[in-house]
Amino acid sequence: MRARIAVEQETKAALHRYRDLQPRTRDGRAIELVANLGALNEIPLALDVGAMGVGLFHIELLFMQQRALPTEDEQVAVYRQLAEAFHPYPVIIRTLDIGGDKPVAGIDFPREESPFLDWRGVRMCLDRPEIFKPQLRALLRAATVGNVRVMIPMISELEEVRRVRQLIAQCEAELRAEGTERAAFELGIMIETPAAVLQADALGAEVSFFSIGTNDLTQYVIATDRANARIASLYRTEHPAVMTAIEMTCRAAQRAGIWVGGCGEAASSLDLLPRFIQMGVTELSMSPAAILAAKKRICEL
Ligand code: PEP
Ligand code: MG
Repeated sequence: MRARIAVEQETKAALHRYRDLQPRTRDGRAIELVANLGALNEIPLALDVGAMGVGLFHIELLFMQQRALPTEDEQVAVYRQLAEAFHPYPVIIRTLDIGGDKPVAGIDFPREESPFLDWRGVRMCLDRPEIFKPQLRALLRAATVGNVRVMIPMISELEEVRRVRQLIAQCEAELRAEGTERAAFELGIMIETPAAVLQADALGAEVSFFSIGTNDLTQYVIATDRANARIASLYRTEHPAVMTAIEMTCRAAQRAGIWVGGCGEAASSLDLLPRFIQMGVTELSMSPAAILAAKKRICEL
Protein backbone atom coordinates (compact mmCIF):
# COMPACT_ATOMS: atom_id res chain seq x y z
CA MET A 1 0.00 0.00 0.00
CA ARG A 2 2.85 2.38 0.95
CA ALA A 3 4.58 1.69 -2.36
CA ARG A 4 1.38 2.38 -4.27
CA ILE A 5 0.80 5.62 -2.38
CA ALA A 6 4.38 6.69 -3.16
CA VAL A 7 3.91 6.00 -6.88
CA GLU A 8 0.62 7.89 -6.87
CA GLN A 9 2.25 10.89 -5.16
CA GLU A 10 5.13 10.86 -7.61
CA THR A 11 2.75 10.80 -10.59
CA LYS A 12 0.80 13.68 -9.10
CA ALA A 13 3.95 15.72 -8.48
CA ALA A 14 5.17 15.03 -12.02
CA LEU A 15 1.85 16.21 -13.45
CA HIS A 16 1.92 19.35 -11.33
CA ARG A 17 4.85 20.59 -13.40
CA TYR A 18 2.35 21.22 -16.19
CA ARG A 19 0.25 23.54 -14.05
CA ASP A 20 1.35 26.91 -15.49
CA LEU A 21 2.00 25.69 -18.97
CA GLN A 22 -0.02 26.81 -22.00
CA PRO A 23 -0.58 23.42 -23.65
CA ARG A 24 0.55 23.32 -27.24
CA THR A 25 1.00 20.39 -29.60
CA ARG A 26 4.44 19.86 -31.09
CA ASP A 27 3.22 21.28 -34.39
CA GLY A 28 2.25 24.48 -32.57
CA ARG A 29 -1.52 24.26 -31.97
CA ALA A 30 -2.46 26.01 -28.72
CA ILE A 31 -5.33 24.37 -26.85
CA GLU A 32 -7.29 26.03 -24.06
CA LEU A 33 -7.88 23.64 -21.21
CA VAL A 34 -10.71 24.91 -19.07
CA ALA A 35 -12.86 23.60 -16.22
CA ASN A 36 -16.39 22.27 -15.93
CA LEU A 37 -17.72 23.66 -12.65
CA GLY A 38 -21.06 23.56 -10.89
CA ALA A 39 -20.41 25.54 -7.69
CA LEU A 40 -18.21 28.34 -6.42
CA ASN A 41 -16.49 26.09 -3.88
CA GLU A 42 -14.89 24.20 -6.77
CA ILE A 43 -12.96 27.31 -7.95
CA PRO A 44 -9.79 26.60 -5.86
CA LEU A 45 -9.58 23.08 -7.33
CA ALA A 46 -9.63 24.49 -10.85
CA LEU A 47 -7.11 27.26 -10.11
CA ASP A 48 -4.81 24.74 -8.45
CA VAL A 49 -4.46 22.73 -11.67
CA GLY A 50 -3.98 25.80 -13.85
CA ALA A 51 -7.39 25.84 -15.55
CA MET A 52 -7.36 28.60 -18.18
CA GLY A 53 -10.90 29.63 -17.38
CA VAL A 54 -14.24 27.86 -17.23
CA GLY A 55 -15.70 26.15 -20.30
CA LEU A 56 -18.96 25.17 -18.67
CA PHE A 57 -20.47 26.56 -15.49
CA HIS A 58 -23.63 24.57 -14.78
CA ILE A 59 -26.14 26.79 -13.05
CA GLU A 60 -28.48 23.88 -12.31
CA LEU A 61 -27.10 23.34 -8.80
CA LEU A 62 -27.84 26.94 -7.94
CA PHE A 63 -31.45 26.27 -8.93
CA MET A 64 -31.76 22.80 -7.39
CA GLN A 65 -30.23 23.54 -3.97
CA GLN A 66 -32.81 26.00 -2.77
CA ARG A 67 -36.47 25.94 -1.87
CA ALA A 68 -37.19 28.80 -4.26
CA LEU A 69 -35.69 30.01 -7.52
CA PRO A 70 -32.56 32.15 -7.02
CA THR A 71 -33.26 35.85 -7.46
CA GLU A 72 -31.58 37.97 -10.12
CA ASP A 73 -29.34 39.59 -7.48
CA GLU A 74 -28.32 36.20 -6.07
CA GLN A 75 -27.39 35.08 -9.56
CA VAL A 76 -25.38 38.26 -10.26
CA ALA A 77 -23.35 37.64 -7.07
CA VAL A 78 -22.50 34.05 -8.10
CA TYR A 79 -21.66 34.84 -11.74
CA ARG A 80 -19.53 37.83 -10.74
CA GLN A 81 -17.57 35.88 -8.18
CA LEU A 82 -16.88 33.19 -10.76
CA ALA A 83 -15.80 35.71 -13.41
CA GLU A 84 -13.57 37.61 -10.98
CA ALA A 85 -11.85 34.42 -9.80
CA PHE A 86 -10.69 33.57 -13.33
CA HIS A 87 -10.23 37.03 -14.84
CA PRO A 88 -8.76 37.64 -17.43
CA TYR A 89 -9.43 34.07 -18.57
CA PRO A 90 -12.97 33.60 -19.96
CA VAL A 91 -15.80 31.94 -18.07
CA ILE A 92 -18.65 30.36 -20.01
CA ILE A 93 -21.89 30.25 -18.10
CA ARG A 94 -24.58 27.96 -19.49
CA THR A 95 -28.18 29.02 -19.17
CA LEU A 96 -30.47 26.69 -17.27
CA ASP A 97 -30.43 23.14 -18.65
CA ILE A 98 -33.02 21.53 -16.52
CA GLY A 99 -35.59 19.00 -17.62
CA GLY A 100 -38.11 16.46 -16.46
CA ASP A 101 -35.29 14.33 -15.01
CA LYS A 102 -34.11 17.06 -12.59
CA PRO A 103 -36.81 18.68 -10.47
CA VAL A 104 -36.49 22.30 -9.38
CA ALA A 105 -38.53 23.91 -6.63
CA GLY A 106 -40.44 26.76 -8.19
CA ILE A 107 -40.77 25.24 -11.68
CA ASP A 108 -43.80 23.11 -12.27
CA PHE A 109 -42.62 20.28 -14.53
CA PRO A 110 -45.23 18.05 -16.11
CA ARG A 111 -44.66 14.29 -15.76
CA GLU A 112 -42.96 13.29 -18.98
CA GLU A 113 -42.51 9.92 -20.61
CA SER A 114 -39.07 10.65 -22.04
CA PRO A 115 -37.50 13.55 -20.17
CA PHE A 116 -34.44 13.71 -22.44
CA LEU A 117 -36.66 14.38 -25.46
CA ASP A 118 -39.11 16.72 -23.86
CA TRP A 119 -39.27 20.09 -22.19
CA ARG A 120 -35.65 20.72 -21.21
CA GLY A 121 -32.94 23.33 -21.59
CA VAL A 122 -33.67 26.25 -23.88
CA ARG A 123 -37.12 24.84 -24.69
CA MET A 124 -38.29 25.34 -21.12
CA CYS A 125 -36.47 28.68 -20.78
CA LEU A 126 -38.12 30.16 -23.89
CA ASP A 127 -41.53 29.07 -22.64
CA ARG A 128 -40.95 30.60 -19.22
CA PRO A 129 -39.52 34.13 -19.70
CA GLU A 130 -40.20 34.91 -16.03
CA ILE A 131 -37.48 32.32 -15.24
CA PHE A 132 -35.23 33.01 -18.23
CA LYS A 133 -35.14 36.80 -18.19
CA PRO A 134 -33.70 37.13 -14.66
CA GLN A 135 -30.88 34.78 -15.78
CA LEU A 136 -30.15 36.89 -18.86
CA ARG A 137 -30.35 40.13 -16.89
CA ALA A 138 -28.00 38.68 -14.25
CA LEU A 139 -25.57 37.59 -16.99
CA LEU A 140 -25.61 41.06 -18.61
CA ARG A 141 -24.93 42.63 -15.20
CA ALA A 142 -22.11 40.18 -14.38
CA ALA A 143 -20.59 40.72 -17.83
CA THR A 144 -19.18 44.07 -16.65
CA VAL A 145 -16.31 42.01 -15.18
CA GLY A 146 -15.22 41.64 -18.81
CA ASN A 147 -14.70 37.89 -19.32
CA VAL A 148 -18.23 36.43 -19.24
CA ARG A 149 -19.46 34.34 -22.16
CA VAL A 150 -22.84 32.67 -22.32
CA MET A 151 -23.96 29.47 -23.97
CA ILE A 152 -27.34 27.99 -24.67
CA PRO A 153 -28.01 24.25 -24.26
CA MET A 154 -30.22 21.94 -26.31
CA ILE A 155 -30.47 24.09 -29.42
CA SER A 156 -32.28 22.29 -32.22
CA GLU A 157 -33.64 25.22 -34.26
CA LEU A 158 -32.20 28.45 -35.60
CA GLU A 159 -35.33 30.17 -34.38
CA GLU A 160 -34.40 29.34 -30.77
CA VAL A 161 -31.13 31.29 -31.12
CA ARG A 162 -32.99 34.23 -32.60
CA ARG A 163 -35.56 34.23 -29.80
CA VAL A 164 -32.80 34.11 -27.19
CA ARG A 165 -31.12 37.08 -28.88
CA GLN A 166 -34.42 39.00 -28.86
CA LEU A 167 -34.82 38.35 -25.14
CA ILE A 168 -31.23 39.47 -24.49
CA ALA A 169 -31.93 42.70 -26.41
CA GLN A 170 -35.09 43.21 -24.37
CA CYS A 171 -33.22 42.68 -21.08
CA GLU A 172 -30.47 45.02 -22.25
CA ALA A 173 -33.02 47.75 -23.05
CA GLU A 174 -34.71 47.30 -19.66
CA LEU A 175 -31.40 47.53 -17.78
CA ARG A 176 -30.44 50.63 -19.77
CA ALA A 177 -33.77 52.30 -18.98
CA GLU A 178 -33.28 51.49 -15.28
CA GLY A 179 -29.74 52.89 -15.39
CA THR A 180 -28.26 49.56 -14.26
CA GLU A 181 -24.69 48.76 -15.28
CA ARG A 182 -24.42 45.98 -17.82
CA ALA A 183 -22.15 44.82 -20.65
CA ALA A 184 -22.47 42.71 -23.76
CA PHE A 185 -21.26 39.11 -23.74
CA GLU A 186 -20.30 36.66 -26.47
CA LEU A 187 -23.10 34.20 -27.14
CA GLY A 188 -22.42 30.60 -28.11
CA ILE A 189 -24.42 27.42 -28.30
CA MET A 190 -23.98 23.83 -27.32
CA ILE A 191 -23.97 21.39 -30.19
CA GLU A 192 -25.66 18.37 -28.66
CA THR A 193 -28.54 17.48 -30.95
CA PRO A 194 -28.20 15.95 -34.44
CA ALA A 195 -30.46 18.80 -35.64
CA ALA A 196 -27.83 21.34 -34.55
CA VAL A 197 -25.05 19.39 -36.30
CA LEU A 198 -27.03 19.25 -39.52
CA GLN A 199 -27.72 23.01 -39.37
CA ALA A 200 -24.28 23.97 -38.08
CA ASP A 201 -23.55 26.23 -41.07
CA ALA A 202 -26.66 28.33 -40.47
CA LEU A 203 -26.16 28.35 -36.68
CA GLY A 204 -22.48 29.25 -37.04
CA ALA A 205 -23.45 32.44 -38.84
CA GLU A 206 -25.41 33.64 -35.78
CA VAL A 207 -23.20 32.80 -32.78
CA SER A 208 -19.64 33.41 -31.57
CA PHE A 209 -18.69 29.82 -30.72
CA PHE A 210 -19.81 26.19 -30.55
CA SER A 211 -19.25 23.88 -27.60
CA ILE A 212 -19.88 20.22 -28.37
CA GLY A 213 -21.80 18.48 -25.60
CA THR A 214 -20.61 14.95 -26.26
CA ASN A 215 -22.75 13.43 -23.49
CA ASP A 216 -26.01 14.39 -25.13
CA LEU A 217 -24.74 14.27 -28.70
CA THR A 218 -23.76 10.63 -28.15
CA GLN A 219 -27.16 9.69 -26.74
CA TYR A 220 -29.10 11.47 -29.46
CA VAL A 221 -26.96 10.30 -32.42
CA ILE A 222 -26.99 6.64 -31.36
CA ALA A 223 -30.49 6.79 -29.84
CA THR A 224 -29.26 5.41 -26.49
CA ASP A 225 -30.49 6.83 -23.20
CA ARG A 226 -27.30 8.03 -21.45
CA ALA A 227 -28.64 6.96 -18.07
CA ASN A 228 -29.75 3.41 -18.90
CA ALA A 229 -27.25 0.78 -17.73
CA ARG A 230 -28.79 -1.94 -19.91
CA ILE A 231 -27.65 -0.23 -23.12
CA ALA A 232 -24.46 1.28 -21.71
CA SER A 233 -22.31 -0.75 -24.12
CA LEU A 234 -23.98 1.03 -27.06
CA TYR A 235 -23.28 4.45 -25.60
CA ARG A 236 -19.86 5.31 -27.04
CA THR A 237 -18.66 8.74 -28.13
CA GLU A 238 -16.04 6.99 -30.29
CA HIS A 239 -18.88 5.47 -32.37
CA PRO A 240 -18.10 6.43 -36.00
CA ALA A 241 -21.42 8.25 -36.37
CA VAL A 242 -20.74 10.47 -33.33
CA MET A 243 -17.20 11.18 -34.51
CA THR A 244 -18.57 12.14 -37.93
CA ALA A 245 -21.06 14.49 -36.28
CA ILE A 246 -18.20 16.12 -34.36
CA GLU A 247 -16.14 16.47 -37.51
CA MET A 248 -19.06 18.04 -39.38
CA THR A 249 -19.47 20.55 -36.54
CA CYS A 250 -15.77 21.45 -36.65
CA ARG A 251 -15.85 21.97 -40.42
CA ALA A 252 -18.92 24.19 -40.16
CA ALA A 253 -17.23 26.23 -37.41
CA GLN A 254 -14.20 26.73 -39.64
CA ARG A 255 -16.41 27.86 -42.52
CA ALA A 256 -18.20 30.29 -40.20
CA GLY A 257 -14.91 31.58 -38.78
CA ILE A 258 -15.77 30.72 -35.17
CA TRP A 259 -13.99 28.55 -32.61
CA VAL A 260 -15.25 25.21 -31.40
CA GLY A 261 -14.77 23.54 -28.03
CA GLY A 262 -15.95 20.39 -26.30
CA CYS A 263 -17.39 20.01 -22.84
CA GLY A 264 -18.82 16.49 -22.40
CA GLU A 265 -17.10 13.63 -20.56
CA ALA A 266 -15.27 12.65 -23.75
CA ALA A 267 -13.45 16.01 -23.78
CA SER A 268 -11.10 14.61 -21.14
CA SER A 269 -10.54 11.25 -22.84
CA LEU A 270 -6.80 10.94 -23.40
CA ASP A 271 -7.54 8.58 -26.31
CA LEU A 272 -10.00 10.87 -28.10
CA LEU A 273 -8.16 14.11 -27.41
CA PRO A 274 -5.76 13.79 -30.41
CA ARG A 275 -8.71 13.19 -32.73
CA PHE A 276 -10.62 16.21 -31.44
CA ILE A 277 -7.56 18.42 -31.91
CA GLN A 278 -6.98 17.02 -35.38
CA MET A 279 -10.57 17.93 -36.28
CA GLY A 280 -10.02 21.53 -35.17
CA VAL A 281 -11.29 21.71 -31.58
CA THR A 282 -9.31 24.44 -29.80
CA GLU A 283 -10.89 24.40 -26.33
CA LEU A 284 -11.58 21.42 -24.07
CA SER A 285 -13.55 21.74 -20.87
CA MET A 286 -13.36 19.04 -18.21
CA SER A 287 -13.47 18.30 -14.54
CA PRO A 288 -10.49 19.94 -12.77
CA ALA A 289 -9.17 16.49 -11.79
CA ALA A 290 -8.55 15.67 -15.48
CA ILE A 291 -6.80 18.90 -16.54
CA LEU A 292 -3.15 18.15 -15.73
CA ALA A 293 -3.13 14.78 -17.49
CA ALA A 294 -4.75 16.40 -20.54
CA LYS A 295 -2.10 19.18 -20.55
CA LYS A 296 0.63 16.55 -20.51
CA ARG A 297 -1.02 14.55 -23.31
CA ILE A 298 -1.34 17.61 -25.54
CA CYS A 299 2.32 18.54 -25.08
CA GLU A 300 3.30 15.03 -26.20
CA LEU A 301 1.24 15.13 -29.41
C1 PEP B 1 -23.24 17.33 -22.62
O1 PEP B 1 -24.38 17.02 -22.97
O2 PEP B 1 -22.20 16.83 -23.11
C2 PEP B 1 -23.03 18.31 -21.55
C3 PEP B 1 -21.85 18.81 -21.26
O3 PEP B 1 -24.13 18.69 -20.86
P1 PEP B 1 -24.87 17.82 -19.73
O4 PEP B 1 -24.01 16.60 -19.47
O5 PEP B 1 -24.98 18.74 -18.57
O6 PEP B 1 -26.15 17.52 -20.40
MG1 MG C 1 -26.06 18.24 -22.42
